[in-house]
Amino acid sequence: MEERLQEVSRALSAATQTAALLPDATDLDFHSSIDPSFKRALSRVSEGLGALIRRMSEWVDAPMGDASVDDMIQPSHFSATVGDAIDRLLEQTDIYLDEFAGRRPVATPAAVDPASASIPAKGKLPRHLLQANIPRPQDTFTTRPDNRADTAWSRPLRRGKPNAQVPLGYRDPAWGITESSRVAGQYGVEGDARLNPYYVEIQQTPAPLHSLRPPEPKAPKPMDIRAPDSSESCPFVWVDSLAKLEALAAHLDEECVQEIAVDLEHHSLRTYAGMVSLMQISTRWGDYIVDTLVDEVREHAEMLNTSFTHPAKVLVLHGADHDVLWLQRDLGLYVTNLFDTFHASKLLQFGANSLAYLLLRYLDFEADKRFQMADWRIRPLPKEMLFYARSDTHSLLYVYDRLREELLAHGGPVSVKEVFERSKATASKVYAKEAWDPVGDTRSGWRTLWLKMGGDLARASQDALPGTPMGREERLVRRLHQWRDLVARDEDESPHYVMPPQVLIGLAFRPPATVQEAAARIPKNLAVVQRRLDELVQAVAQEQAAYQSEAQERVESASGDTFALHEEDVGEAVLDRLAPAEVPKAVQQARLDTETSLADVRVWEQPAPAAVREGARLFRGLKTSATETMKPVTKKRKSLFDKSTPSEKPVESTLQRIRAECVQWLGGLFGQTVGVPTTKPAPIEPVPEAKASPTWDAPRASPATKRKASPAPVEATPAEVDEVDAIVPVAKHPKSQPGPRAQTETKSAAVPEFDYAQAESMLTAPRASSGSSLLRASGSVKGTKAGKAAKQKSNVRSGNRSGTFAAGRPGRGK
Ligand code: AMP
Ligand code: MN
Ligand code: ZN
Repeated sequence: MEERLQEVSRALSAATQTAALLPDATDLDFHSSIDPSFKRALSRVSEGLGALIRRMSEWVDAPMGDASVDDMIQPSHFSATVGDAIDRLLEQTDIYLDEFAGRRPVATPAAVDPASASIPAKGKLPRHLLQANIPRPQDTFTTRPDNRADTAWSRPLRRGKPNAQVPLGYRDPAWGITESSRVAGQYGVEGDARLNPYYVEIQQTPAPLHSLRPPEPKAPKPMDIRAPDSSESCPFVWVDSLAKLEALAAHLDEECVQEIAVDLEHHSLRTYAGMVSLMQISTRWGDYIVDTLVDEVREHAEMLNTSFTHPAKVLVLHGADHDVLWLQRDLGLYVTNLFDTFHASKLLQFGANSLAYLLLRYLDFEADKRFQMADWRIRPLPKEMLFYARSDTHSLLYVYDRLREELLAHGGPVSVKEVFERSKATASKVYAKEAWDPVGDTRSGWRTLWLKMGGDLARASQDALPGTPMGREERLVRRLHQWRDLVARDEDESPHYVMPPQVLIGLAFRPPATVQEAAARIPKNLAVVQRRLDELVQAVAQEQAAYQSEAQERVESASGDTFALHEEDVGEAVLDRLAPAEVPKAVQQARLDTETSLADVRVWEQPAPAAVREGARLFRGLKTSATETMKPVTKKRKSLFDKSTPSEKPVESTLQRIRAECVQWLGGLFGQTVGVPTTKPAPIEPVPEAKASPTWDAPRASPATKRKASPAPVEATPAEVDEVDAIVPVAKHPKSQPGPRAQTETKSAAVPEFDYAQAESMLTAPRASSGSSLLRASGSVKGTKAGKAAKQKSNVRSGNRSGTFAAGRPGRGK
């Protein structure tokens, strides 16, 4: 391993040296000024590139407005401009290829009749089935969703509480439930289970005797895929009226009906909280599909509670964690005696726990799971979708029998009871609204999005020291994300539908200053945003102003502040003139001094030199000195202060000289007047981790410096590092903070695992351009949030609001 690492670093150092010879952005000006032919060639290439990009952007209808070429190819803007355009180009190509190959009907969405268009047997579902262009059903609902974040969810039982063992509203005083337990507006959480109106019944109802008797499984007759609504081998009813609902309720109430299989299909793109679009029900006597988009059916569905909560009836669902919540939210339905086949499959320790697996295991039936993603609001249902929906419950009672057979054989009645026991937790879940998540770490949170799509800037900020103020773009992502959430609630659309993440990130990198600019930049099909451009521009302006004024405050109160500075910041101008032995000291001292000689904020907003950023990226997984320089500089500084007792003061005159040079150099570079410190900084107080001390943008905020081989980083002794770590833990984020012990294990905890599988390509492949790293960044860092987020991309794309499938909710085996 040691050898391998050396090999890697040898290869990298050669590459780095070669790269350093290339003129960088700051050198170009210099060369241009002394060589007119160089200047001409340069501008020819730039203009050519610019024209090319612009032309491409027009082809894919992603106008770039008046952005300059420089703007476009800035790594930080690349994903917002070129990356976005390429994404669209690829997507469009995909569509046209599908059309060409006959996998997709060539037509405008409006002209497609989803029910009659044929669906390809393989590959992605056609777009008109994933996102149908149809009127929104909720616009005619009697009960409209209340999306406000500041009110608790509540849906009173309109028909009282059938099968009650305790009256509606019963609260055991021992529970200590207060009104504030009805929390609204936490994100990714459910309500208090004891507020479930059937909580007591769910807990107290024992498994019905019939469920413990040896079953006699009888496979249901298979359905005809060409006639999924056929009643030939098994009765089928499409329930789309109050009368049919009443007939269904009467059937379910019959004493002979001891088991009811239920499944739901759900839609979440064109609505904020999601809507149950279909309820499939099967008994031993037939299959029913309830059209829960029919207003009167929706309004009266609650009548099924008499059977759903009956103590002698078993409700069989698969992976019901979501279904239970959706049933309450939209239909006022509760389930008392749940047998979740997922829990059974878990208990039996099957390798896979999806319904698809169970159907395969017991019936050799291959479910076409592509339809999970379909737009279930489409009516009439295309027959392929009807077939899928019906098959989700058609055989579920048979699966229930087979599972109980295996459970009884392996563990006896106790194991069947155990499945009921585990299902109680699922059945007693309580729906709660989600609030916007200010931390942003949830699956569709702003921070997750930022880390996934923010490119180099996001990576740099992830490496930043605790307390580092957020950069401009990051703040804008948060603000736009919050604004999008408000709009989505107001319009009853999903945030994703209002503004897809690529567009949001694009706006954060190139914030529109005027309504006209915003109108030009935002795709025309984002109708909701196009209607609210003034609000958008206002939100952006407010955030920009807040950023500016906070930055200003930091300047004004900077004397006691800390910020990180690393070798590159010192500048070779100073270092070149020092004897090698002086370098480490000079670097340290320059840090000390520059901390107090705070230049104008704008100096520190300059992006770090490309080499530094690229280096950090390459070395991310490796614990090398390059990584060190990007990281915990504060620690070293703290140690220095601790040590600089009066007797050990470094030679004053050298310090003065270095400081003066630094200051001059910084000032000259950016045309800013840089204040010279007059006093020594006071020793720093231990920083409690929760308190975000105002600090400067860390590594990425260093001024652009010339890149030559940078001096060896100053190594803090392990003792110093440890000592300081205990005070200022390397916290990446409140949620990812290790425990007290882990904190002292320092950097190893903060540095993501190096992905050795990638090592080969790092050596052989040409250096990834910033552009490609931006486009592909999400998948490249194994095991990070961004990486995980990328895996969810397909869900997001298909319009399944990721919040609905929050990772924190267990028990779903798909
Ligand atoms: P199912 O019980 O598998 O039929 O799924 C019920 C509903 O959950 C579907 O209609 C989808 O809205 C949603 N759903 C299921 N699986 C997924 C998935 N893998 N990704 C996103 N949404 C899903
Ligand atoms: Mn389901
Ligand atoms: Zn289903």
